[in-house]
Amino acid sequence: MTDTTDAQDVAAPVYTVAQERRIVTEIPGPRSRELHERRRAVVSGGVGSALPVYIERANGAILVDVDGNQFVDFGAGIGVTTIGHTEASVVQAAADQLQDVIHTLFTVTPYEEYVRVAELLARHTPGGWEKKSVLVNSGAEAVENGVKIARKHTGRRGVAVLDHAYHGRTNLTMAMNFKANPYGAGFGPFAGDVYHAPSSYPYRDGLSGDDAAARTIGYLEKIVGAEDLACLVVEPIQGEGGFMVPADGYLPILQRWCTEHGVVMIADEIQSGMARTGRYYASEHFGWEPDLVLTAKGIAGGLPLAAVTGRAEIMDASHAGGLGGTFGGNPVACAAAIAVFEAIEAGDLLAEAERIERALTSGLERLKARYDVIGDIRGKGAMVAIEVVQPGTGDTTKQPNPDAVSALVAYAAERGVLFLNAGTWGNVLRFLPSLAVSDVLIADALQVLDDGLAALG
Ligand SMILES: *Cc1c(COP(=O)(O)O)cnc(C)c1O
Repeated sequence: MTDTTDAQDVAAPVYTVAQERRIVTEIPGPRSRELHERRRAVVSGGVGSALPVYIERANGAILVDVDGNQFVDFGAGIGVTTIGHTEASVVQAAADQLQDVIHTLFTVTPYEEYVRVAELLARHTPGGWEKKSVLVNSGAEAVENGVKIARKHTGRRGVAVLDHAYHGRTNLTMAMNFKANPYGAGFGPFAGDVYHAPSSYPYRDGLSGDDAAARTIGYLEKIVGAEDLACLVVEPIQGEGGFMVPADGYLPILQRWCTEHGVVMIADEIQSGMARTGRYYASEHFGWEPDLVLTAKGIAGGLPLAAVTGRAEIMDASHAGGLGGTFGGNPVACAAAIAVFEAIEAGDLLAEAERIERALTSGLERLKARYDVIGDIRGKGAMVAIEVVQPGTGDTTKQPNPDAVSALVAYAAERGVLFLNAGTWGNVLRFLPSLAVSDVLIADALQVLDDGLAALG
């Protein structure tokens, strides 16, 4: 809740859950263990849970489990509750919409909220040109639709992606992921015409933006052939791959090459968009104006909604009826998304992301000076990670250290801090909090991380 009666200029947010960690049982606690047993009987074993504590309430940056333990949440449902858990304006907008209309199906009888979300997307995605959108339910569905639209527009079939990419768990997106395990292994056959090109990974390849782009383009021209390529799909900052920030210049050079060769370049901003990195979209950090932009995770404060937005002439290539789906652009999810956009427009959320970057990176730099398992610190805004290496290999072979990452995640969880891992080799610890996380909570979590690093021995 926001205190609007306060006479001060800046109303401090009021939380319904105290913003502090508190551990009152072993982790997981007895009620969570009971629920976990019930779950084992009826929930597919193919669905994992990083930390099997069952959550009863959440507010701001805090998760409360069924045993009364409180966790500082550095995962935000993998970058979904960017605006904060159960943020008051989102809750209000969704509750109001539930009273008015829950579903009609936009492709049968439309409603204003869908149009309003498309207007907001057109205004806030990069690029000054005329833009249009289609709304869908999930990130993977946005990727699928981006590829469909690019193929229809170009009349070509080929789809290029980058090494270390993650794009989802549907059939097409499984083929677009870099890592077989756990996303693809045994789930084939996969969609064809998908090509994996080298990326920009400055910590490991040491290449400038020019050189990394030349390598990517060389691969696309020799191995794929531009004339068969419909689209190149790129995360401006890779998410599951480990928060790799590409070298300066890399993305605009690829965009220029795509434009010259009639290839649609698509920004997968599903994890990095919606104020997460201190800009509406992370592409802005790199001077990249993509043809199409994919939005999902953070757009609706926790409700499922996703979008493909981009150049009107590309978005209009599909025949009427070619795009859509039963739940796409659900009115309640749209109402929540409008509240999220309005909060970003009205408030200090972009500056909050920059505050979080400063607090995290300065604290992590101090830890890096003391612990040589921290090989690299990278990211933007509230999307920051450390790459963890074997002791003593940081300046030379940079050998991945997934065991240390797992140990740190477990150490922190037992003390009430939820960290997520990432990285092609499970070698990255990522910080993906909501923008509601305070400097006090960040300092507290970094102290837990410091103790965990010391305990590695
Ligand atoms: C999470 C994610 C997806 C898939 O989104 P879902 O909603 O899980 O289908 C695609 N791309 C990126 C970059 C993601 O982080």
